[in-house]
Amino acid sequence: MRRQRGGAISRAEAAAEARDQESDDWAKATEERDLLIGLEERDSAELVALDAALLRIADGSYGLCLQCGASIPAARLHAQPTAERCVNCQTQAEHPAG
Ligand SMILES: [Zn+2]
Repeated sequence: MRRQRGGAISRAEAAAEARDQESDDWAKATEERDLLIGLEERDSAELVALDAALLRIADGSYGLCLQCGASIPAARLHAQPTAERCVNCQTQAEHPAG
């Protein structure tokens, strides 16, 4: 049976499929990106944070604390998909200890 629509699938599509099979990290990142894209109609500060989060997804650093490099717990990312720091570092950023 022959594929009728457009012959070969695009290179990007093929690459995405290969990645999908190789690592579920990629699938997870895609899910997270979808989650972020679903967050529409926020104020501009959040849009900036969202943009930064998308860039971090693109370069593979999404979900890692900007400060200490630890991975941010999934529960925290669910509550705040644009979180840039782990709870510890966020607390310190908000309440610097003298
Ligand atoms: Zn941290």
